Amino acid sequence: MNLNDLKYLIVGAGFFGSVIAERIANELNRKVLIIDKRNHIGGNCYSENDSDTGIHYHKYGTHIFHTSNQKVWDYINQFTEFNSYRHQVLSTYKNKVYQMPINLKTINSFYNLNLKPFEVNDFLKSEISKEKISEPKNFEESAILLIGRPLYEAFIKGYTKKQWQKEPKNLPKSILKRLPFRKNYNDSYYFSKWQGIPLNGYTEIFNKLLNNKNIEQKLELDFFDIKDKITKETIVIYSGQLDKYFDYKFGKLEWRTLDFVKKTMQVDDNQGTAVMNFAEEEIPYTRIHEPKHLHPEKNYTKEKTIVFEEYSKPDDGNEPYYPVNDEKNKQLAAKYKEEAKKEKNLIIGGRLGHYSYYDMHQTIESALNVFEQIKKL
Ligand code: UDP
Repeated sequence: MNLNDLKYLIVGAGFFGSVIAERIANELNRKVLIIDKRNHIGGNCYSENDSDTGIHYHKYGTHIFHTSNQKVWDYINQFTEFNSYRHQVLSTYKNKVYQMPINLKTINSFYNLNLKPFEVNDFLKSEISKEKISEPKNFEESAILLIGRPLYEAFIKGYTKKQWQKEPKNLPKSILKRLPFRKNYNDSYYFSKWQGIPLNGYTEIFNKLLNNKNIEQKLELDFFDIKDKITKETIVIYSGQLDKYFDYKFGKLEWRTLDFVKKTMQVDDNQGTAVMNFAEEEIPYTRIHEPKHLHPEKNYTKEKTIVFEEYSKPDDGNEPYYPVNDEKNKQLAAKYKEEAKKEKNLIIGGRLGHYSYYDMHQTIESALNVFEQIKKL
């Protein structure tokens, strides 16, 4: 590793950094150094086999690949095949299991009704008319205007408080856009044109992206330990935390992180689905993942299964997962982004670098677009 004549330094080996590394190495045929402070590549998409059961699992929570973007789909298919998994989520509320996203099945079982799709609007209207909200100002009001208070309080309020540790009225409306709502029986979580789980997991994709004689990888190397040694000529592509790059000079951005508690169960199937949400605030975890279900094509052991309870907590600066996109944080992030523009030879991106709630396909799309700019540098 010679930092003196380095043209491209990529910080972070998640999708943003790895896709750009691959493009520079293959298309430009230039040398690139990619570093990560963790002991593995893949960022939060990293996946591995459980040594005891052989079940492949996503270390940082279930990741479903989905996209309607042809360019992204064609690109990722050079590095993996996908299985036929289609994401479905269920939610447990007061010991009963419901469809999530909220659809007609959820509404009918929750209210013990048998509404037809064309009756849903009038039914919800009567629920919503009990409220005095005209123009929704925040997450809570938007949700109530969409589904009425009883469904909101059952399936959204407690879960959201656990996930963000904030009152839903202090959260932005934009989070609600992630949550589908259906007035029919469709139970697909995503409507993307393409969807699936990489047949051999995510880590294999990253191995293939980075397997190139032009790419040098250095793991367990913290960018901030070498920052001072980097010359002005090096183009730095940084996908770490936005605020950290600037040494928090305008203040700290808020992040959420997750803890996973793994349990091995001596049964074939513990919950019948890959992701089960738990709606009530009193249940400390937000969801339970059972990765066996992500690979219906594999012949896993029938003796055992593994599950992961997911707990949300504030990030102490080490393992950020989610930006807290409320007004205060959004403004602070915008200030840092302006600062980034002033620096020559610096490109910031990815979920952490953009302080944006990106899914994998959005990160890849953004990396491919950024590469077009890098070509011009
Ligand atoms: N959400 C909820 N109830 C659920 C699932 C999600 O209220 O059962 C809300 C919650 O505010 C959450 C947001 O929808 O933060 C986005 O959920 P998503 O499942 O997209 O989160 P991710 O998979 O990115 O962690």
